[in-house]
This record gives sequence, C-alpha cells and structure tokens, in this order.
Amino acid sequence: MVTASALGFPRIGAKRELKRLVEGYWSGKTDTAELLDGVHQLRIRHWRLQADKGLDTVPVGDASLYDHVLDTSVLFGVVPVRYQSLQPGLEAYFAMARGLQRPATESAPAIDVPAMEMKKWFDTNYHYIVPEFEQNQAFQLADEPKILAELAEARALGLQARPVLLGPVSYLLLGKPARGVSAASFDRFALLPALLVAYVELLDRLTAAGATWVQIDEPALVLDLSDAARAAYPIAYRQLAAAGQSKLRLLLTTYFGSVGNNLDLLTQLPIHGVHVDLARAPEQLDAVLNALGADQHLSLGLINGRNIWKANLAHALTLARKAVAKLGTDRVIVSSSSSLLHVPHSTAGETAMDAEIRDWLAFATEKLDELAVLAKALNNGEDAVRDALDDNARVAQARAASSRTHNPETQRRLQTVQPSMFKRQTAFESRRAQQQARLKLPRFATTTVGSFPQTREVRQARAKLRKGEWTQDEYAVFIRAEIERTVRFQERIGLDVLVHGESERNDMVEFFGESLQGYVFSQGGWVSSYGTRCVKPPIIYGDIVRPKPMTLDETVYAQSLTSLPMKGMLTGPITCLQWSFVRDDQPRRDTAFQLALAIRDEVSDLEAAGIPVIQIDEPAIREGLPLRRADWDAYLAWAVDAFLLSSTGVSDATQIHTHMCYSDFNDIFSAIKRMDADVITIENSRSDLKLLSAFEQHSYTNWIGPGIYDIHSPRVPSVEEMKERLSAILQFLPNDLVWVNPDCGLKTRGWPEVEAALTNLVAVARALREKA
Ligand code: GLN
Ligand code: ZN
Repeated sequence: MVTASALGFPRIGAKRELKRLVEGYWSGKTDTAELLDGVHQLRIRHWRLQADKGLDTVPVGDASLYDHVLDTSVLFGVVPVRYQSLQPGLEAYFAMARGLQRPATESAPAIDVPAMEMKKWFDTNYHYIVPEFEQNQAFQLADEPKILAELAEARALGLQARPVLLGPVSYLLLGKPARGVSAASFDRFALLPALLVAYVELLDRLTAAGATWVQIDEPALVLDLSDAARAAYPIAYRQLAAAGQSKLRLLLTTYFGSVGNNLDLLTQLPIHGVHVDLARAPEQLDAVLNALGADQHLSLGLINGRNIWKANLAHALTLARKAVAKLGTDRVIVSSSSSLLHVPHSTAGETAMDAEIRDWLAFATEKLDELAVLAKALNNGEDAVRDALDDNARVAQARAASSRTHNPETQRRLQTVQPSMFKRQTAFESRRAQQQARLKLPRFATTTVGSFPQTREVRQARAKLRKGEWTQDEYAVFIRAEIERTVRFQERIGLDVLVHGESERNDMVEFFGESLQGYVFSQGGWVSSYGTRCVKPPIIYGDIVRPKPMTLDETVYAQSLTSLPMKGMLTGPITCLQWSFVRDDQPRRDTAFQLALAIRDEVSDLEAAGIPVIQIDEPAIREGLPLRRADWDAYLAWAVDAFLLSSTGVSDATQIHTHMCYSDFNDIFSAIKRMDADVITIENSRSDLKLLSAFEQHSYTNWIGPGIYDIHSPRVPSVEEMKERLSAILQFLPNDLVWVNPDCGLKTRGWPEVEAALTNLVAVARALREKA
C-alpha cells in the first residue's frame, strides 16, 4: 500500500497559539506548567488533524518552542559556555534563543547574555539558531530527550509516529566555530565521530520506545558539497544504520531542490528510504528511481511545501504512478516536498478573501487533503477519489482561464520591452555632472534610508483607518502632519537629501502590494520567521497592474514643504517578489518584470512631478540566490535586469538610489555594479571592511553610502565612533564618492535616539567637509 505523510507541520497553530503561549511565558503571564500543557495540546491537535485527514504517519519532534535546530543543539548538549551557568531547561533554552538580561538580586548576580546568532534556513524566510562548536566539542544526549516523550505521546494516541531528526552532517554544516575557536583551524567533521555516538544512543532509545522508522533530514544534500562533506555522509550513515539493533529504518530526506550530483553519494548510503523534492525538481525522479537499491523506499515530495497553490494532482499522479510501476505500492510514500512549516496553517479562516482566488489556494491543512487524495487514488484507483480529482482539475482550469490572472495590457507591455529599457541614457560620469548641477550637494552628502520612527501613534492611526474609526481623509490629515514633522526634523538636523518618512507604510512590500492589482492578502496566513515571530507574505496571483500612482501624493506634499531635495521611496521588484508567495503559472522572471514595469511607471510619475531623487530598495536581492552556484548567473541576470527595468526610465539629471542590507554582498558584486544606481546606500556598520575593499577592487565608480550608524540597536553612536568608521571607509573609497547615512530605515527606533544619532552623523560629515 502507498502511504501518505508530511515531513513536518506548521508549529505556530491555527490562531498562532504557540505565539501566545511562549510570549505569555516570557512576560510572566503564563507559568511553566501552562506553557508545557499548551504546547502539548497544540502538538496533539496537529497530529490528530493529520491523522483525521487520512495520513498514515505523523511526524514527531518537528514542533518546537522556538527552533528545531536549537532543539537539536540542546538534545546533544551543544550549549555554549556563556549559557552553561544558567538553569538548564527553559531558562538556558530561551537565553540561547533570545538572550537574557536580569538585574542582580541579593542571592544572585546580574545576568546579561546576548542571543545566539540566527541565520536563514536555506532559501526560506525561516531563521534558525546557529549551533556553536568548540574545537573538541563534546556531545551528550539529553537525559530526557523531548523527542522521546513526544513519541510516547503520539503512540499513546494510537498514531503511527515517525520521529524527525536533523541529520548529523547537515547539523554540522549549519553550525560555526564557537567564540575563540579560530575558523582556520576548525574542522567540523573532526566532530563527527563523537556526534555519531550521541545519535546512535538516541536512535537506540527511539527504537526501544517503539519507533520503526525515523526521518533524518539532510537538506544539505541539495547543496554544492565540499569533498569533506561528501566524505562525511558514508561514515555517518554506516554508523547510524547499525543503531536500534539494525531493526530501525531510516528515511533520509532531501528537500529544497534536486540532489543533483549528490545522488551517487545518496544511493551508496545504507538507508531504508529516500525522500526527494519533486515540487522543485520533478526532473530528478527518473535518475532517483534508477539509482535506488532493491529494497529501498522512496518518499515522493509531490505537494509543494514552499508555496500556497493547490497542486496539479493529475501531474502528481503521473509522477507517482511511474514510481509505483517501478517499485510497487509498498515502497512508495507520497509526501510534501519539504516540511509544511513554510506555509500558513489553513485557508479556512480566509473568509474576507475574494472567493475565486481563495479557491486556488492550499495552505498546510489543505495540502494534507491533497496527500490523502493521492494515496487513495494510487491504492484504490482514481474512481475512489473521482470528485476530489475532478474538483482539482476544475480549479486548475478555472485559474488558468481566469481573467483575474491575465491582463492583456500588462502582457502586451511585457512583449514590447526593448533592450534600451534596461539602460540609463548616458554613463554615470555624465549623469553625475548633471545631477551635481541640479542638486548642488556638498561632499559627503547626508541622507537616510527612508523610514522614520513608527511610533505607537502611527500604528494606532493605521488601526483606526482599518477599523473604520477614521475616514480616509482623517487618516490623510494625520499622515500629512507626520510628514511635515519629519521634514522639519530633517531640516533642523541638517540633512542634505530628505525623505517623507514612510509613516503611511506598515511594511515595505505590503504597502505596494495593496496598491497593485495582481496581489491578494490573507487575514491569517502567518508563517514562522523566527521563534514566535511570523510574517504574512502577500500573494501574487495575477498580472501586475498599477491602477494609479502609489506614492505620488505623499512625496509631492513632502517636497512642497522644503527647498531641499526630496527623495521618493519605492520597493524594488526583486524584494516584492522575494517577500511574497509568487504565482507558479509563469516564470518568476516574468512576474519580476511585471513588477518592474509598475515601478518604472511610478518612477516616471515622480520624476514628472519634479522629484529629483528616487530610491528603489532591493534589500532582498541576495537572498533570492539559488542554492546551487551553477544557477546563480541565470538568476542574477534577470534580477538585475528587473531592477534596471524599474529604474532607468528617467533623465540623466534624476538621481536613482538603491539600498541593500541583511547580508554580505561581496559575492554578488558584479551584479551590484551592473545595477548602475547613481547612489547605493548599503548596510555596513557592523560588518568588517571586506565589503569596502570589494568596492575598491571592482573599481566601482558610482556614489556609495556605506552605513555608519547601526540602526538595529538603540545605542547612539558617538561622533568619535562614526568618525572612525568613516575614516576607515575613506581608506578604501575616494572622498568624492562617499555619502553619509545610517545602515537602514529608522522605523524601529525612537525619536530621541534618532535625533541624537543623526545629529552626530551630520556633525561628522560637516567636519570632514571642512577638512577636505
Ligand atoms: N526604505 C526602507 C526603510 O527605510 C528600507 C527597509 C529595508 O531595507 N529593509 O524602512
Ligand atoms: Zn535596509
């Protein structure tokens, strides 16, 4: 019989119950017993849901109070020294996750430990806590592993439970050397033997507790692996295969792409089953089927764990039938491509959404239905699920034919995009002269990245508009007052290029999405970003149309208040794409170009209204990079083209800025250069000077504003500190190319600290001007 299972389920809960419980615990409103009982209930509800939907096996151990990679570290005793003096259990766990500050009491000294580092989980928007390894890291299985308790819980409910572990090789690859361990001498795979001892002990205990299959996630197998990493796999899995007196079966899962050249490696391993991602990489099925050993099972990742569209079940069945023909039903599992952690809980609550579009969506709960239908069709014949299959085909057809997804004018424009639309009229040298003549800016010109503090008042104003307590006009009056205050503030501080402050925007993507056709918003489509924090990505379902200007009123109003140049603020096409769920019925590139055309029109409108400077933010351009190096160039080609399409429809005298943050940009430097923005403001104040030497090495000639104020912290950098930062910058960059600005937008900061920091920033720029 073909069985069905998901690799993991969203942990946050239909109503974000996990958030309420954990944050209640942090604030002292919820005690430990309530917290543990609450998450226990939540786990059970999610297992039951999977079983009730008809799935044969439920994953156990994928849920977490904060992060499953942190859980793995705690499971094996990988606790950095600075947390070891804390109470083991929840106190140490949450301190690792988010830091801990506690004043001294009579009996205990003060505690002040920062959180561990957080990083993006592969190419998702989920962030994991980066494990820290000592040179000779010891691994010690926890006394009472949480996963054993959860296995017992699930089994007590009569469920077929499959524990989920992060595999040892991926785990080592995701970590980094602890503080004080030199990166050069650190060999992570030297830790493997000791780590495997702990894994074997755990597998033995899981077997004794009744586990028959264990799911071991090795997503690193879809990456380009070093020789050392490749060599670690056979060593690791030979040892793990012997665990549980060889009674235990291991399902090794790969996801987020194709195993590609790691297939030979994978099929050498003594494992009982393999899972592959057929949503992102359906083309790998034949090769995998051919490479599979005689008794190995294959779990087919057919239902997309990374997107929110209903599956094409007919297509999924074609792939599954191929597997069944070769392996027989008993060796085939139908599954989600990855954990369902990356999609929202259910569409059931989306009552306000346009019904036609809602019908096209499948969140995690609806994906369970799809898995059950696939298994039934394979086991009992398609007639057993005729209605579900017909309905699925009807929806696919309706979506393909819907006038909601197709806009003839947008498509016509896409067809008529010319090569000249990816280029400014002249080279930077001549633009620079024209912009200088127009703007007359001093050397070391100062500006900000766009947003100013979003106070409670601003958020309340938005809430009042949303709830209907305020009319659109009342809200507009409020926003105008905010803009005026922000403009006057910047004039007083002495900045050179001003902004309107973005007080009308809740989020830099959502704001534009709400003004564009082709976007829809869910009410409860929350997805975990880190810990209890969730995001609600907008959904791009159709061709993009800009019915009217989106930022013109506020920007023109702001410019009317001042004789200083006003900078219009837009979000770039790649960032809009990257932070949304994107339609799957056309290449991402086409969607990016449609967004770019809408932004290009906005840029033209701003220019026509006399706005002399326009910034198009692309903080997410690097995170769109494919997981495999070989795919980078193709992505960067269209991503940069999309930016150029959005930004080049202006005269030479209009100054285009872009802004980037959140990552290390050295490896995409030539792409940044090709973007040809007149000014790039870029996060820099925390990073070393590598970035700057990259600008130097690539003889970057346009203006650059490396941030000298870290806006992620409430700290106010002193004049001295920023001066030092700037002198270091000027070691690498010519004086006349440098702008002076913060690292990113100021929306999370408070006015007093912003005032102090920007006052210092302007003082530093002025002092330098006098010297130069
Ligand atoms: N203009 C945006 C702001 O200032 C940029 C935000 C970002 O880069 N993430 O808020
Ligand atoms: Zn930024």
